[in-house]
Amino acid sequence: MVDFEKAERLKILPPYLFKEIDRKKAEVKARGVDIIDLGVGDPDIPTPQHIIEAMKKAADNPAHHRYPSYSGMNTFKEAAAQWYEKRFGVTLNPDTEVVSLIGSKEGLAHLPLAFINPGDIALVPTPAYPVYNTSTLFAGGKSYFMPLVSENRFLPDLDAIPADIAKRAKLMFINYPNNPTSAVADKSFFERVVDFAEKNSIIVCHDAAYTEMAFDGYRPQSFLEVDGAMEVGMEFHSLSKTYNMTGWRIGFAVGNSKAIDGLGAIKSNIDSGVFEAVQMAGVAALQGDQSCVKDMIRVYQERRDLMVKGLHDAGLEVETPKATFYLWIKVPKGHTSARTATRLLEEAGLVVTPGNGFGDPGEGYFRIALTQTKERLKEAIGRLQKIGF
Ligand SMILES: *Cc1c(COP(=O)(O)O)cnc(C)c1O
Repeated sequence: MVDFEKAERLKILPPYLFKEIDRKKAEVKARGVDIIDLGVGDPDIPTPQHIIEAMKKAADNPAHHRYPSYSGMNTFKEAAAQWYEKRFGVTLNPDTEVVSLIGSKEGLAHLPLAFINPGDIALVPTPAYPVYNTSTLFAGGKSYFMPLVSENRFLPDLDAIPADIAKRAKLMFINYPNNPTSAVADKSFFERVVDFAEKNSIIVCHDAAYTEMAFDGYRPQSFLEVDGAMEVGMEFHSLSKTYNMTGWRIGFAVGNSKAIDGLGAIKSNIDSGVFEAVQMAGVAALQGDQSCVKDMIRVYQERRDLMVKGLHDAGLEVETPKATFYLWIKVPKGHTSARTATRLLEEAGLVVTPGNGFGDPGEGYFRIALTQTKERLKEAIGRLQKIGF
């Protein structure tokens, strides 16, 4: 066979986070163990029926069978802008300040191609969703990692970024409510980010995938609510977690028109937009009855409370998150993230994600996703208590 050598950009990638876990999981499963997967953040609850109906109806209409506009249907962009106004009080021009995405991951992955030249810097949190770093690398850029540690409530310490790095940086990624730490940001943090970005001419990319998944009445803010944010930033939204639509691939980016335009220019050369029937489903999601979101929150809040108590009873240290469906749990004293994840899999059949897989400062933690039913979570808690820590 011809020896096709992979490009450098693939060779320099860190190992895929879930690959090793998947291998071990398959091994344990082959032994006949009943596995409870708390690894991947993929909702187990189906998409609400009214959204599915909208898709079915739109799929029947031949007008939706042709190439969509790469930046999104006007109807979808208007629905996104109206949702923003209603939810955050932020006014957006649907023509210039909104672009549809094939899931927010797609937009996050393409953005650096629009603004990073080889050797340029992106400020990237760690631990984090891996796409911020890999997309920077794909564009030939370099990630300067901003550690997220508990002493700073998992917010990056902007004062710790050296001045010459800040001057060279083109992009900054932030993500609140946060995956994997489940931390939240307040307005004063966003204000400091706007100041920093203005001073250093940096585009802020706020990944806002979890703004709707928050508990106890807490309502996360949009980065764009802060004065000056539209001058420096953009925000990425996903319908995946809010409406249990991970498989549908739809999201959108909003914010600074130059940033949106740059992302759109890349997209127009790579993809041809989102299937219009899926966009119509997105319109139904954004404009329809939002009680499905309340139901989703109630389900995760119950699971959160059950699991946090179970973990505490098992002797593990975890904070009760205000948002997201993740728990960021300290590993037992004297253990590592990898050792704990392996032990939980082999001794209890539980798949969890080792914290260091999201970046070095995640060492000492593991993450679980609350994407199993209460019955399965109770079973998981029983097994945790049986191992003992
Ligand atoms: C799930 C997730 C996304 C991706 O969502 P899609 O819209 O499905 O691509 C983006 N960012 C974070 C932090 C996520 O956890």
